[in-house]
Amino acid sequence: MEKLIITIAPTGNVPTQAMTPHVPITPLEIAEDLIACYEKGAAVAHIHARDAEGAPTCERIYFAEILRLLDEAGCPIVTQISTGARGGTSGEARAEGLELRPLSGSLSTGSSNFPASVNANEPKLVEYLAKTMLEQNIKPEIEVFDAAMIHNAIRLQKEGLLKGPLLFNFVLGVKGSLPATPKNLFFLYDSLPPDAVWSVSVIGPQHVNLSVMAMALGGHVRVGIEDNIYYSKGVLATNEALVERIAAIANAMGRELAGPEDVVRIWGR
Ligand code: MG
Repeated sequence: MEKLIITIAPTGNVPTQAMTPHVPITPLEIAEDLIACYEKGAAVAHIHARDAEGAPTCERIYFAEILRLLDEAGCPIVTQISTGARGGTSGEARAEGLELRPLSGSLSTGSSNFPASVNANEPKLVEYLAKTMLEQNIKPEIEVFDAAMIHNAIRLQKEGLLKGPLLFNFVLGVKGSLPATPKNLFFLYDSLPPDAVWSVSVIGPQHVNLSVMAMALGGHVRVGIEDNIYYSKGVLATNEALVERIAAIANAMGRELAGPEDVVRIWGR
């Protein structure tokens, strides 16, 4: 079986240090946490930025500082910049971080609900972000909150706005979106085009079980405080511990970990 890519999503847009002291917020905190997670086996960093007040932002200066700190430390982790809906409304605002030419950017190919807001990605905006990534040779990771997003991505590929093999991340367990169940995982897995590369990102108490199922199916895994502030019932997570646990499970399953140098090959970029 292919080596396992562990993606670390340390911050997201929702967790605050009032909710958990372990969430990195400033560029320095984020970079230091990513370096520690890389050392535990994470190969990809899914990065959201926060402004000086800790609010979600897609402003280029914050992403630039995180990338600069990683670079300065010589950390080779593959960087993926979020273009998610909570970071801004216009396509231009959400694409700002892409100007930094990360290897990858996130791309939601449809709309869904977050617990208290809309994950708004209208067709025109999706096309704009896809085109921006295509022109800059940035690998889009398609964030799948709903099966329609897989089919939308296949259509965008036919229209020449996405290049195959497509890279998907199934997001399961967001309140208002697809629940984190094995049935939903298998349904999405069955809906993939044949050459797809995919991972899961599971929110809530099923995150370990469904991550292990994905690993057994040949999928990859994303972990991090963006998705789960809890490591287990009542125990707050650290990003490092979440990476370490998946790395240990992979080891027990006999699946080697991918390093950043393997990612480009596995993604077929
Ligand atoms: Mg995200």
